Amino acid sequence: MKIGFIGLGNMGAPMAANLVAAGHEVVGFDVAAAVPEGVTKAGSAAETAKGAEVVITMLPNGDILRKVAAEIVPAMTEGTVFLDCSTVDVESARAVADLAAGSGIRPLDAPVSGGVGGAAGGTLTFMVGGGDEAFETARPLFEIMGQKAVHCGPSGNGQAAKICNNMILGATMIATCEAFALADKLGLDRQAMFDVVSTSSGYSWTMNAYCPAPGVGPQSPADNGYKPGFAADLMLKDLRLSQQAAEAVDADTPMGKAAMDLYARFVEKEDGSGKDFSAMLPRFEHRGRSAG
Ligand code: NAD
Repeated sequence: MKIGFIGLGNMGAPMAANLVAAGHEVVGFDVAAAVPEGVTKAGSAAETAKGAEVVITMLPNGDILRKVAAEIVPAMTEGTVFLDCSTVDVESARAVADLAAGSGIRPLDAPVSGGVGGAAGGTLTFMVGGGDEAFETARPLFEIMGQKAVHCGPSGNGQAAKICNNMILGATMIATCEAFALADKLGLDRQAMFDVVSTSSGYSWTMNAYCPAPGVGPQSPADNGYKPGFAADLMLKDLRLSQQAAEAVDADTPMGKAAMDLYARFVEKEDGSGKDFSAMLPRFEHRGRSAG
């Protein structure tokens, strides 16, 4: 396939490289990042889109996505697929889908889970919103860049699935970390805590697969000085998107809001920026109730 790829940062570059390795012809553009080996460099986003059967975007946020969409949609050929893999607000995803569909282009919103490791290893999970036919066209690309693609319904539903998942993840990580900190103060050994919770009703992905306590459970960022992994900054971004969506549809999400407020404090007022999102554990470890 002839593919245009816009946004070749931490995620986009390895995803584009995997498409090249699988034999696809990839033309790429980024305002700052270098083009990975095997990808043909274009001079602009619009140039990337010209003649491409699928245009993939992997950009920082909804505003940038809207701007890039306005540039590329007029340059794209009718019937081709606009596959956005960025994590953005549901509203931007739906606005961009409408813009594309208005020009006869088939839009898909397909945010990913799996992080930089998943992008490099081709093991991402794609949560996809958009039409059936567009999903089928993109399926071979999902199979190269990832290990699973779930079609979640019409445009915007991929983003909806992503932020709901990450709202659960953020709140669960905080719950797991504060429970470890309480267990410490109660004199409970961390290994015993893990052995009980990971096989009891408090188990979760954050405990069982990504344990925030160093030296306990499977290897995780906690065993690597809390180097991300999944940065607290990105968790904050996704929690904000979840609360923006909850506002828009009048959904009551008190735990999601509490998680957003706590990650905002951790990242913007304390020392959480650049650390893995599981670094909430050392944060709690050193605090008492009066710390607020
Ligand atoms: P990044 O900042 O490394 O990459 C984004 C790239 O977009 C940058 O290279 C930037 O120069 C480029 N860019 C910005 N504006 C542009 C424009 N107008 N035209 C062309 N290029 C432009 O970010 P990332 O970590 O690769 O994340 C990309 C997206 O994937 C984000 O939406 C993020 O939330 C999501 N995501 C990231 C992770 C992760 O672990 N990094 C995991 C899941 C999802």
